Formats: sequence, C-alpha cells, structure tokens
Amino acid sequence: MSNEFDFRIKKIGDCKIPSPMPFSNIQGDRIANFVRDDQYVLHSVIKGDNQDKKNVYEYALEMAGPREKVFFNPGHIHAGIVTCGGLCPGLNGVIRAIVRTLWQRYNVRRISGVQYGYVGFMPESNLPVKTLDPDIVDDIHNMGGSILGSARGGSDVIKIVDALEQLNMNMLFTIGGDGTQRCALEVTEEIERRNLKITVVGVPKTIDNDISFIDKSFGFDTAVSKAEAAVHAAHVEAKSAIDGMGLVKVMGREAGFIAAHTTLATSDVNFCLIPEVPFRLDGERGLLKQLERRLDRRKHAVILVAEGAGQELLKETGEKDPSGNKKLADIGLFLKDSIISHFKSIGREANLKYIDPSYMIRASKANPNDSLYCARLGANAVHAAMTGRTAMLISEWNNCFVHVPIQMAVSKKNRVDPESPLWRDVLEATQQPITMMDTADKKNK
Ligand code: ATP
Ligand code: MG
Repeated sequence: MSNEFDFRIKKIGDCKIPSPMPFSNIQGDRIANFVRDDQYVLHSVIKGDNQDKKNVYEYALEMAGPREKVFFNPGHIHAGIVTCGGLCPGLNGVIRAIVRTLWQRYNVRRISGVQYGYVGFMPESNLPVKTLDPDIVDDIHNMGGSILGSARGGSDVIKIVDALEQLNMNMLFTIGGDGTQRCALEVTEEIERRNLKITVVGVPKTIDNDISFIDKSFGFDTAVSKAEAAVHAAHVEAKSAIDGMGLVKVMGREAGFIAAHTTLATSDVNFCLIPEVPFRLDGERGLLKQLERRLDRRKHAVILVAEGAGQELLKETGEKDPSGNKKLADIGLFLKDSIISHFKSIGREANLKYIDPSYMIRASKANPNDSLYCARLGANAVHAAMTGRTAMLISEWNNCFVHVPIQMAVSKKNRVDPESPLWRDVLEATQQPITMMDTADKKNK
C-alpha cells in the first residue's frame, strides 16, 4: 500500500459534548446542517485513478463543517489567532470569520490575537495579546493587511508552547504560508510531548498559490485582478510608444500561478516568464532576440515576469530573511537593465516602462471573491478546532471545504506544470515560443 497520500486527521480527544450550534441563532432555529465524520471528498475526480484499490485515507479528504458533538466546552476555551509571513489580501477577513464563528456559533468569549506572528509569543518581544470580539473585528475585512500585524522569524517552538501554557490557550489558529504551517506542525508535536489538550488549526495563506491540496489560496484572486490592472497600464504605455515595451513583475517565488493566470485574464501579455520554465536572454531563441522579432512584427511588447523566474541568470544574493527564506535577486530590474542595454547596443531605441505592483497587491483589501472565501475558510477552521482536530489546515478541494493534514500540505509545493493545460493555454495566449532555451541548454540539463 503506497503511503504517498495519507489524509487522516489527528484529534486531541473524543467529542462528547453536544454542539451549541443548533440553538445559536436568534430565533433558536436548527441551522447547523451537521457534517458526518464519514463524509469525504475525493482527491482525484479524474477517472482512471484506480481508487477502488485504495484505502479511504489515501484517496479522500475529510469534509469540513460543523459536527453534532464537539470536544471543547465553549466556556473553557481560550482561542488564539496569529498571522505570520508576508501580507496577503484577506487576512483580516479570516480573522473576522474566526472571531465571529467562535463567538456567535459556539459562545466562546475568550479570544486573543497574538501580535506580529510567532514573534508575539516570544517573551523577549514583550507584546501583549489583543482581546478580540465581534465589535472589534466588525469592519476589518474592508482593510488590507492584518490587524494583528505579521512577521517572519520568532518560531522557537518551545517558547511558543510555553506561551500557550502561560496564556491558558487551548485553541490556536495559524494563518500563514508553508513556513507558518511547518512551525504549527512542530508546535503540535511539542504539545503532544507535553501531553496538553491544545488544538492547532491552520488557514493556508499563500498569495503565490504554492501550497498543495488547495484548489486556490485566499488572496490569489485579488492578486490576479490587481496584476491585471498593472499589465493593462504596461500595455497602454507600450502601445503608445515607438518600439514600446511594458515590463511587469508579480509575486511568485517558486510558482508562476499569478503570472500565468494574469496572462490569461488580460490577453495582453506577449512573454510570460515563470520560475518553472527556464529561459535565456541571448542566442537565437533567447528573450532579447524574441523581443526584437516581436517589435518588428507588432511594434510593441508586454513582458510579465514572476519574481522567482530566471534566477539562474542572476547572481545569488546569498542572503536570507529572518524566517530562513532565500532572498531572491531582483529579476525585474535585471530584465529592465538587460533589455535597455541590448537595444542600445543594436542602435535601436527601447521605450521600456517597468511596473512592480507587488506591495500594492499584497497590501490591498480582498476582492468580493476572496472575501467570501475567507469568511468560509475561517468559519470551517473554527468548526474543525471545536471538535479537537489538530495539525490540519482548512482547504477548498474539488469545490468543497475539507481538512488536510499539515504534513500533507507542506510535503511538496504546488507548481505550474509546464506540461499542463494551464501552461499550454498561456503559450497559446502569448504566442511565445515553447522554449527560450537553446538545444544545447536542453542537452546540458
Ligand atoms: P509567506 O507565504 O509569506 O512566505 P510563510 O508562512 O511561509 O508565508 P515565513 O516567513 O516563511 O512565511 O514563515 C512564517 C513563520 O514560520 C516565521 O515565524 C518562521 O520563523 C516560521 N518558519 C518558517 N519556516 C519554518 C520551518 N521550516 N520550521 C519551523 N518554522 C518555520
Ligand atoms: Mg513561505
């Protein structure tokens, strides 16, 4: 039996307490629509996956949602929320949903926000927790950023669990990317070692969409719509100048989903460059020659580059951020300089406008699609935590909300597959060559 997939979800105990949910609306109506523990969502809906021979934990994910019995007595809960890593549209929407669901559906009255990511747990940071209630979070979904602040670093697992014990926190929601969730997983292991009854449930935040087993992460939709505006501006600039070129850099350290989707959304991009597809600048097939040909033909060009693309062309910075992530060299500025000097060297004036909307995108408020998504992710995170489920993330998979073990979600990163229909559609939309590498490069690979 292969162990490639194991979607079993851990629990810190049995659920014996009837959920307070059925009586939680003002009219006292039964509104819960409880989900049964034997309801699953198929991992693959593609026929030919040989599901018959597999154990349910290998091919299906547990359905999210409220259960009839819960683990926690609501009066005994102290819930904590922490947001870590880079900013992403929708953080406040998730915080709001968690607070409102805890308060209104489960009558939980002690909810605290940990400030500035895991750093807020460190005793030396001296940051008090923030009390949260529905009034405090009422309008926060209309603001970008996180009302709790966010940070990298500070992930000392022992100190985090010490702080949880000191705060008497028995429920923690970790909103963050792969780094945050890896740390959350280690926290659950330390909790287990100390034999504590503390549950940790994550909401995956990755604007790049690079976490596995989630159809699409929150903030991604907003990111694409903001990037679309930047590409539109680049296109207008390029079309209005002789040999005009627009260059836009978007997020995507290791996965080019934002660039790929923005390309398809705008139809204005002529060269989409992503980390998964290497390219070179010089040579007959290289980007610079391709740009010359494109300008000969159409007089303007738009290039969209993901921040992690073409790193092999650049000198490594050798630097790391406080979370230990490699600092990338700036491909946007490098391309800008290379293109301008190339056209100068061939005696052709290049009119290139460079737009980097990254921080505008990260800091913007969520669009309606992301807002409703955040609300549902947050609510389902609470339903899961109430049942004592732990070391798991809330995700949407095959259009259903599901539970995914953190272990599975961080086991490999989601990437754009250059053989996939998505990338094929991008190539059709841009008309860029399938490869901008030389035959020799391929052989050397
Ligand atoms: P982003 O999408 O912004 O990168 P992220 O959650 O991956 O989100 P990081 O800054 O990498 O952001 O990590 C967030 C927190 O998790 C930091 O406090 C960091 O110290 C911690 N962390 C990162 N990687 C790990 C790891 N492998 N193990 C334990 N903790 C980690
Ligand atoms: Mg990360």
